[in-house]
Amino acid sequence: MRLVFLGPPGAGKGTQATRLANELGIPHISTGEILRAAIARSTPTGIEAKAYVDGGELVPFAIVLRLVEDRLQEDDARDGWLLDGFPRNLEQAHALEPLIEKLGQNLDHVVFFEVADDEVVRRLSGRRVCKTCSETFHLEFSPPPDPQDCAPRQCEIFQRSDDSEDSIRNRLEVYSRETDPLVGHYQESGLLVTVSGSGPIDEVESALREALGHRR
Ligand code: ADP
Ligand code: ADP
Repeated sequence: MRLVFLGPPGAGKGTQATRLANELGIPHISTGEILRAAIARSTPTGIEAKAYVDGGELVPFAIVLRLVEDRLQEDDARDGWLLDGFPRNLEQAHALEPLIEKLGQNLDHVVFFEVADDEVVRRLSGRRVCKTCSETFHLEFSPPPDPQDCAPRQCEIFQRSDDSEDSIRNRLEVYSRETDPLVGHYQESGLLVTVSGSGPIDEVESALREALGHRR
């Protein structure tokens, strides 16, 4: 199965993508995570992308496209993939089409997670991530483990630098301007599957499974 996850920052795309990709045995490809790893390692891409990511702006098209192009050609992505965070605007959506065509593949569904603005802000402000395993937690809804319990895994819980108040505000603006038009785009092409993302994590997971189950 080849899927794109769409929705505002904080909608729960990464949380659901980790679970579904595991279940389907396909790679979860998060452009945000690839960029954060590049920034942490101070690669040339990371150095170029850092200011955009910290400020909640979109990283330039050419950089992100190259990352996705390379990642989709890796062996583990031959039989399926789940793209989380790409495409993020119409330019990227138009570039994805010939890219997957060239690989002799096709996109099965675009899942849109619908979540109200105030809920998204609550989720982003409480988000915490583990530096070691990249697992995502929430101070209230999915609390991180006690540091003692994860000593063997050497978990290091931190708050993403772009989950600051200013950056969250900017990302929501960028989302409405750049990414939201993709909902109409994929609706027109008949690929859109809308899932309510507002309930608890397990409830959203069931709704997602049901929505895709009808289409597998
Ligand atoms: P969230 O879902 O919380 O918004 P992501 O991890 O998807 O966060 O993205 C974090 C940041 O990485 C974005 O704010 C942006 O700066 C950059 N980024 C991720 N994906 C893309 C993309 N497809 N195009 C441009 N920038 C991107
Ligand atoms: P996205 O990838 O769309 O930016 P995440 O999956 O990182 O979103 O989720 C944002 C925050 O909200 C995280 O702290 C996560 O633990 C929490 N979260 C995700 N889904 C839900 C949910 N259904 N209910 C409550 N909190 C959630």
